[in-house]
Amino acid sequence: MKKEKREEFCFRERERERERMSQELTPEQKARIERNKREALERRRKSALSLSLADVDNSRIRRVHVHSDRIRRLNGDDVECNEGGRYVLYWMQSSQRSRYNEALEVAMERANARKKPLVVAFALTCDYKDANERHYNFMVKGLLDVKEGLSRRKVPFFLVTKKKREEEKEREVQTEIGAGIPEAILSLSKNAIEIITDCGYLRVLRIWRETLARKVSIPITEVETDVVVPVFAHLSSRPKLDVSAASFRSFALPKSFEHTENVPDLEEIIALWNKEDAENARVSAFETLNDRFAFVIDGKIASSSSSTASEQTAEDILSVLKAKFGLKETPNIPKCDKYHVGGEIEAMHKLEAFLDPVILRKYGELRNDCSLGLQSHLAPYIHYGQISVLHVAKRARRFAALHKSDEKIQRSVEVFLDELIIRRELGIQFVVKKRDTYDTFDALPIWCINTLEKHRDERETRYTYEELEKGQTDDPLWNAAQNELRLSGKTHNYTRMYWGKKVVEWFRDSREAWTVLMRLNDTYSLDGRDPNSFTGVGWVFGLNDRSFPEAPVMGEVRRMSMSGCKKKFGKAIDAYIERWNGQREKGGRQVSIANMFKKQKRY
Ligand SMILES: Cc1cc2nc3c(=O)[nH]c(=O)nc-3n(C[C@H](O)[C@H](O)[C@H](O)COP(=O)(O)OP(=O)(O)OC[C@H]3O[C@@H](n4cnc5c(N)ncnc54)[C@H](O)[C@@H]3O)c2cc1C
Repeated sequence: MKKEKREEFCFRERERERERMSQELTPEQKARIERNKREALERRRKSALSLSLADVDNSRIRRVHVHSDRIRRLNGDDVECNEGGRYVLYWMQSSQRSRYNEALEVAMERANARKKPLVVAFALTCDYKDANERHYNFMVKGLLDVKEGLSRRKVPFFLVTKKKREEEKEREVQTEIGAGIPEAILSLSKNAIEIITDCGYLRVLRIWRETLARKVSIPITEVETDVVVPVFAHLSSRPKLDVSAASFRSFALPKSFEHTENVPDLEEIIALWNKEDAENARVSAFETLNDRFAFVIDGKIASSSSSTASEQTAEDILSVLKAKFGLKETPNIPKCDKYHVGGEIEAMHKLEAFLDPVILRKYGELRNDCSLGLQSHLAPYIHYGQISVLHVAKRARRFAALHKSDEKIQRSVEVFLDELIIRRELGIQFVVKKRDTYDTFDALPIWCINTLEKHRDERETRYTYEELEKGQTDDPLWNAAQNELRLSGKTHNYTRMYWGKKVVEWFRDSREAWTVLMRLNDTYSLDGRDPNSFTGVGWVFGLNDRSFPEAPVMGEVRRMSMSGCKKKFGKAIDAYIERWNGQREKGGRQVSIANMFKKQKRY
């Protein structure tokens, strides 16, 4: 279908969908939508004011289309830009991508408006809680993609890491805030006009941003780039935590259309500066950093006295981080490039491969069959912000619109978006609304804690952490799931549920089971240390789930058993066990993932 025809077709489909939805709404829902719309317009008016760029030549500046609900100032509207600054600074932290990144495009637009270049900086800490070489390898590969993408757009990129003094290490362990991050950005802010940043939701990511906002004397604007439905714009009107996906869905699903349908696609803003301006900005940014920081500048590792080291690969960067900056060696946790290679390019290929009629005719029905691996495999990329969830959701909805008459595809896309938007963003709501406790066992609903406690004596602690880690239990399905996680950095969503449930059964003390599961999840999973780690592990203890008739061992918490899995999936379970316990590379979708990159579709 020609592009214009397809667009017209999609437009008509969207109109029909909107009409259908508005016919099904109750008067209360209609009134709520109207109220939401009014509030959104008011927020847009306010943020347009804070975005207004006085005294600048607007004639050549292309505007970026970002929903105003995504944008907010972190340090008050009265803080003024540093007119003498040499560059606009985008502190990239959670959205590690150069494509479909709203924060980046807002920053590009601001820099153009100021007639100054943009500088992008990512601050890396070598001792992020539970992160190991596997995670750093995945992330650094992604940051090299960012560097490529930015240099194409004449934007200097700094990867900054700090040499820590002993007393700082101690302080940071105590406070868990990794003070080096805001400090590095604070240094770079000295020559900056203003700062734009992306949004993170875990406590440490909020503390970094809040610390910086308290310390800088220029505006710092946060753009929510990694959710379909922005969180902070609705926090005051919906302060209560949703206790189930159903209640969150009734709010978030209609809202999601506002973001996937009503906002035009994010287009890249063209830099209005030249290479020489960019180089001057780079030098000026470099001058603000002192020798307590080490930098990778445009892919080259530099010290403060030299910025001319040769081009580096991810492996080279990791070696330097290990040799000089305290990144720990973790030989027992192998990198998993064979399965999932970090970076936005790979992420886009995975999305392309997933948006395929053959896969999407099956996903809705067969995604839980662990021998097929019919998932998008996007979770690790989403975790590092290497792909935009908004872009993924838009693409999936468009794909569904193109296959309107195919019921299986409609159903699959609906199921996929329910996972991507509702389940995932429910996790984000959880960590934001339970900011002080989300990472503790006590954040679980009280009925889950009580029912497990009541049945405590029916369980005994069966394995040590080390036995679990090596997949040495008496349960072959559990071992297969752990082996998949240990080798590939990811495990199938269905077996992940089983994997979690069994650990609850195998520990007398549920609190200990929770700690063990969190540690296994965050150590081995590429998507670990995420809001969804807390809700995923929480789910196996009953979080966001209903209670079941009381039974031994698990009380009222949902149970899963090997016989149940076999009943549901038959031989598929045996194939999965054979594959991962024998570690034989056959069958399943992991193999076809390698092949699917051969498709090299354009995007
Ligand atoms: C015990 C346990 C621990 C978990 N830990 C994590 C974790 O650390 N990090 C993490 O991102 N997810 C976690 N999950 C959720 C889920 O397992 C992963 O998101 C899923 O495996 C992603 O694989 P995919 O991208 O191939 O899935 P797809 O089926 O392709 O799903 C598409 C996207 O939807 C989202 N999604 C899918 N399933 C869920 C879910 N159940 N909850 C929330 N979002 C979901 C993810 O962003 C995913 O990328 C956990 C689940 C369980 C049961």
